[in-house]
Amino acid sequence: MQLKELTDYLEGIAPLQYQESYDNAGLIVGSHETEIKGVLISLDTTPEVIKEAVEIGANVVVAHHPIIFSGLKKINGKTYIEKTIIDAIQNNIAIYAIHTNLDNIYVNGVNAKIAEKLGLAETKILAPKLDVDPSGNVGSGMIGQLEKPLSEIDFLDYLKDKMRLKVVKHTTKLSKTVRTVAVCGGSGGFLLPNAIAAGADVFITADYKYHEFFDANGQIVIIDIGHYESERYTIDLLYKLITEKFSNFAAHSTNVDTNPIKYH
Ligand SMILES: [Zn+2]
Repeated sequence: MQLKELTDYLEGIAPLQYQESYDNAGLIVGSHETEIKGVLISLDTTPEVIKEAVEIGANVVVAHHPIIFSGLKKINGKTYIEKTIIDAIQNNIAIYAIHTNLDNIYVNGVNAKIAEKLGLAETKILAPKLDVDPSGNVGSGMIGQLEKPLSEIDFLDYLKDKMRLKVVKHTTKLSKTVRTVAVCGGSGGFLLPNAIAAGADVFITADYKYHEFFDANGQIVIIDIGHYESERYTIDLLYKLITEKFSNFAAHSTNVDTNPIKYH
């Protein structure tokens, strides 16, 4: 089976035109005519992931984050990006990225997966794109209701358990019950005004900077769970989407922990 059949299927679920303007989702390295021998699914493409693909006989990497965002002027292997691309080409491995187009869909998207893990009901896109048909079903972030409201401290424990977190960063607790939960996998800080306007009690995302935490302003509890941690279930999501459709090649979830951030 050619790679095009897989990318057509994934783009039927998460069309490329739903990606953000800064993004670079799609086939990044390789040809659509590649005959698929095996697929390796990861959040990031790194030299270690390419090595793993070689070892398990996969010639396609399906990653959430695009390895290339902007133009490369030299490919000398001096950065991890250049090295990854060289390793991929030398080993005939294609790299495909399904990024903000997967973030922005309501069904089977990154945020839908987080909402599922947290058991949120009555979910809606937090910031729908108004120029897309069908409106309301494409856009950033997600908001939903906990089936059973929790105290803030109990919610933090619940969140750590469901998202497999060692530690979370959060703003001052407001002595309120947590019922309405807004989420955005990855760098979702730009959605804070939407989360507040929608009446969310907490906003779960990642990549918050020190001064940005002040923007909670007594109106909401911001919880930064880490970028990798917020998106880790995207690997399971992609694995399920690919394996429930195709059985004529092996798909594998990566065993490489590509999180560049470590905790001690
Ligand atoms: Zn991300």
